[in-house]
Amino acid sequence: MSRLGEFLAPLGKTPLLVSDDVVWGILGQRATDSLRTAQLPVTRERFGGIPTAAEVTRLVGVIERTGADVIVALGGGSTMDAVKAAGFLAGIRWVTVPSVASTDAPTSALSVIYTADGAFEEYRFFPKNPDLVLMDTQLVADAPAAFLAAGVGDALATWLEARATRQAHANTMAGGLPTLAGTALAELSWGVIWDNALPALDAVRDHQVTPAVEKLVEANTLLSGLGFESGGLAAAHAIHNGLTAAHQTHGLAHGQKVNIGSVTQLVLEGAPTQEIRDFIEFTTRVGLPNTLTEVGLSVDDEDDLRRVAEAATVPGETIHNMPFDITPDELVSALKSIERFSRTVRSEAHLPAPVQYVAHQVDTH
Ligand SMILES: [Zn+2]
Repeated sequence: MSRLGEFLAPLGKTPLLVSDDVVWGILGQRATDSLRTAQLPVTRERFGGIPTAAEVTRLVGVIERTGADVIVALGGGSTMDAVKAAGFLAGIRWVTVPSVASTDAPTSALSVIYTADGAFEEYRFFPKNPDLVLMDTQLVADAPAAFLAAGVGDALATWLEARATRQAHANTMAGGLPTLAGTALAELSWGVIWDNALPALDAVRDHQVTPAVEKLVEANTLLSGLGFESGGLAAAHAIHNGLTAAHQTHGLAHGQKVNIGSVTQLVLEGAPTQEIRDFIEFTTRVGLPNTLTEVGLSVDDEDDLRRVAEAATVPGETIHNMPFDITPDELVSALKSIERFSRTVRSEAHLPAPVQYVAHQVDTH
């Protein structure tokens, strides 16, 4: 963070920093000092909290008013989604400075746009990736470990989805068929996470940066970011997008909802039972939800589950990258099935039973 100005100087003369008040409270002084040292002007705009189409338009107005030539997102996935979309529309450069490793949004050339209620609205694709992705692993270690755990949920899906996309010969988010390279990065991310997530999370609970933390941050951010974009998304993210249509899930992190998508995708694939068991045990240890209960839903919420399934299977959703067709009925059944099976696996492994989630705030990506 102390070198932010040094990295921004070659990219523009009038940067616009965008962050919410919490992140600015933590990073504002360091960012200001760093830009001043690099003889750059310091202009900061408050981020509205949800990457809606209106928020993107508002930020474009700020870019035009301030004459900024590079826009910088300081914060999490929501801030980055809004900033990338605004930078593209305004025709200037964009930079991401993730304050947490909670999603794989930082590296990609796309944004996810939500409604003001926090429901998925659309993917927006850009002709280029960010000009700079700058991460300070001490910041990740200073933040609550729950952010890093959510990032694990987002990143574990990457290999499951890339594997399915490859099998289906479907297109990636970057366009065109997956390359061996993109798919290999997705698989590498999976392996690094299984080897490092648990010790890394413990280190971050004590705000320590260890080699495991460094590796996990790279897996959550760079490997998963390149892996999903160049390897392809499939059912897990479509199910995440579907879950945002149920108000009960609002307030959960992106990666938490994605993990429900991953378990459900494994069920839909008819994956080997041991593979599903291992995934449930591991993600429980990481602290990720793998039951409906933990995302505010239950097997009795027939109407809500149907709405989730309908939203997840609309034309154009990435669930159609799976190597077989999935109907809303099949998806409802798969979603319902994870409740009892995850409870059984957790009980047999002497892991904690799920705790009911109760939504109390507006969704953030
Ligand atoms: Zn994601």
